[in-house]
Order: sequence, then structure tokens, then C-alpha cells
Amino acid sequence: MSTFKAPKGTYDLIPPFSAQYLAVRDAIAAPLRTSGYGYVETPGFEDVNLFARGVGESTDIVSKEMYAFETKGGDKLALRPEGTASVLRAALEASLHKQGNLPVKLWYSGSYYRYERPQKGRYRHFSQVGAEAIGAEDPALDAELIILADQAYRSLGLRNFRILLNSLGDKECRPVYREALQGFLRGLDLDDDTRRRIEINPLRVLDDKREAVQKQLVGAPLLRDYLCDACKAYHEEVRALITSAGVVFEDDAKLVRGLDYYTRTTFEFVHDGLGSQSAVGGGGRYDGLSEMIGGPALPSVGWALGVDRTVLALEAEGIELDIPAATSVFAVPLGDEARRVLFGVVTELRKAGVATDFSFGAKGLKGHMKNANRSGARYAIVAGERDLAEGVVQLKDMESGEQQAVALDGLVEAVRTRLA
Ligand code: ATP
Ligand code: MG
Repeated sequence: MSTFKAPKGTYDLIPPFSAQYLAVRDAIAAPLRTSGYGYVETPGFEDVNLFARGVGESTDIVSKEMYAFETKGGDKLALRPEGTASVLRAALEASLHKQGNLPVKLWYSGSYYRYERPQKGRYRHFSQVGAEAIGAEDPALDAELIILADQAYRSLGLRNFRILLNSLGDKECRPVYREALQGFLRGLDLDDDTRRRIEINPLRVLDDKREAVQKQLVGAPLLRDYLCDACKAYHEEVRALITSAGVVFEDDAKLVRGLDYYTRTTFEFVHDGLGSQSAVGGGGRYDGLSEMIGGPALPSVGWALGVDRTVLALEAEGIELDIPAATSVFAVPLGDEARRVLFGVVTELRKAGVATDFSFGAKGLKGHMKNANRSGARYAIVAGERDLAEGVVQLKDMESGEQQAVALDGLVEAVRTRLA
């Protein structure tokens, strides 16, 4: 071991486990890639004000969790705590919204950073795959995103997750509700921090996880009862579209989210096998965000799914992803001449698209075969001086143990035929 360790709240992805991780990322991205979403990649850090304004000063993310720092040049930056503000910033900067039909549909995958109290499922460095549909107000778009996330989780074999759905209203009806909620909350027995929150972002109080707070919230006014006609109709349409796609969801009138920018459709994917860190993903509509960061009005909707927690959800359900062995063929040279020849064969096989590895370093047939076994390869190519003198190698089927001499000059084709 070195004298250094991964920083607190972080962990390394190590093979073979890391393959699960890649597979989860791919599975989440797959339905997006075939639904018109283009890949976007933004820097790992941004102007701190993009998040302060975009995500909202009163959110936990901005007030407590952000890794903000000043550069040697005096720029105030922050490691990105979430993806939406960055992706919208990038889309505006590239004027994607002016280059064709709206919405602009984008997906992303990457690392995010929050200074949180580390625990299972809650890390300081974590990974998300996300999707954003920018510039259109269309309930079918909200429905599409929820359906695609559902499809992604199902393709991984997950079953014990639930979709919670709510509407947060818009700039017409939310202020009325906000005031009613504040009136209610001011009458409760709450600590100073929470009292402050009532004045800045009262909806967030509904999200308080503490039993003592939740007990007092029982009779709180619900946004559902305050939605204006337009928001109500919009929400009904989203619900109808998801339902007709066969996606099951639960109405959750108390669902709010950690970010200030959400409007109308809000949803969360929760998994019942994860204890208190149960949210595996979430998202919603953020019609006002573009204007908040200096752009034009661009009503948008998106989600971000947590890769770390999705992997934990797979574990909780006892799901082992079927990941094909990384190596199909493993070359075992016996002697120096064979080493030179087989090393060339390995390069040829790789060029032909066959996943091939070579027994490096090992000494003696036993050591070599141990390497071959560990690689998980389906076939081993074994050759010594006598084989080479006859122009052949031994092709060993690692499953059946059968071995056959194959001519060296027809080897690539022979291997490809067997693997096909
Ligand atoms: P929570 O309520 O658990 O703090 P959040 O509302 O802060 O979640 P979002 O900002 O919506 O989470 O991020 C989307 C997803 O990213 C979450 O559902 C979760 O799966 C994942 N996520 C968020 N924060 C972390 C973290 N610190 N460690 C691991 N995954 C995280
Ligand atoms: Mg959080």
C-alpha cells in the first residue's frame, strides 16, 4: 500500500467491479442515444456563479456542498455539483437553440462533486448520467424522459424502484401557494435554520427528513390544490402519456427537489433496497433556469440518474449483469522464439477485432496457464519451438479443455470462425 489513500468520501473503481459501472452507464445512455439525444461534455468546473444563480443560493448544494475555490488568476470557480446548469450554459454559448428545431436534446455522463457527509450511497465524488431537452414546453417531452429513465432501469433488470411524480406549478400559481405554505410553516415549532428556510425557500421545508418536522407537516397546504388551470392541464397530460406507455408511477404531493429551478413536472426514482439514500435519480422541468443565467426564455426538462446508487440498487436486488469477458483469446508462448511469433499473432488478432491478450512476465507453462485462466479468455493459443517448426500453434478451448493444432497462417480466420 502507498502512504496515500483515496480522499474521504471517494472510492476507486477497480476491475472486475468497474465493468459493472461501465455497463450501468452504457445502459442508462442507450435509450437516450436512440431517442434523438446528442452527447455533450462540459468542463469539470465552472464559474461559481453559474451554480449560485442557477442552482439557487438557498439550496444545500450551494450553501453547504459546493467545492468552490479561487484560482491563481483570481477566477472564482467551483467543481460542478450537478449537470443541468452547465449543459444549459453550453447550449446557450453555442447557440444550439438558434440552429434548428427546438427542443435541443442532449445527454451527458460524468463526475460530480459535493462536499457531503459521506455514507453509503452518498459520496463527495459521484457519477451521473443525465439528459436535458431544452427549449420546448410539451408534456410529451416530460413523459418521454420519464419513460426513457424507466426503460434504462428496466433494461438493467431493476424492478424494486418506484417513480414519484408531482407538479411544482409555475410562476403564476407557485407564489400563491408559497405564501399559504409560509403562513402554515410560521406557526410550527421549528429550529432557527428551518425558520430561515421558510423565508427563503419554504418548499424545501417539506423535504425535511426529520421525524419531528415531518410530524408537524401533516396538515400542510399542498401545491396540488393551488395549481392554476394551465399547470393542472399540463400535469394531467403528462400523467396520461406515461400511463398509456405502461409506466407505473405514484403521485407524491409532497415531492420537492433540492434545486431551486424546478417548475411544473417534478419526479424522483426511488429504490426500496437502499435505506435512507433511496433516490437513484430525479429530475423535472426548469422553465425559468435559462433566464436566471442570462439566456432567453427556454422552457426545458431533464433528469440525472446516479450511477453509484444504481449500482447499489443492482446489488440490493442481487442482479449480476451479464458482462462478456474482456478477453476472447490468450496467447501463451513457450520459449523466446514463440514469444516473438505469438506477440505478432496477438497484434494481428487485435487488428482483426478479436479481443486478445498475451502472457507477459510469467515463467513456465503453469504460470502461463494461470494467466490464461485468470483472463477469462475462451481460447488459449499455446506454442513452443516444435509447434512453430511445424508451422502450427495449439488452439485450446478453455471451456472444454480440447486442444487442436491449427496452421499459423490460417490462425486469424480459424479463431474468428470459432468465436462467431
Ligand atoms: P439526495 O436527496 O439523496 O441528496 P439530491 O436531490 O441531492 O439527492 P440530485 O441533485 O437530484 O440529488 O442528483 C440526482 C441523483 O444523483 C440522485 O438521485 C442520486 O442518485 C445521485 N446523487 C446525488 N448526490 C449524490 C452523492 N453525494 N453521492 C452519490 N450519488 C448522489
Ligand atoms: Mg443532495
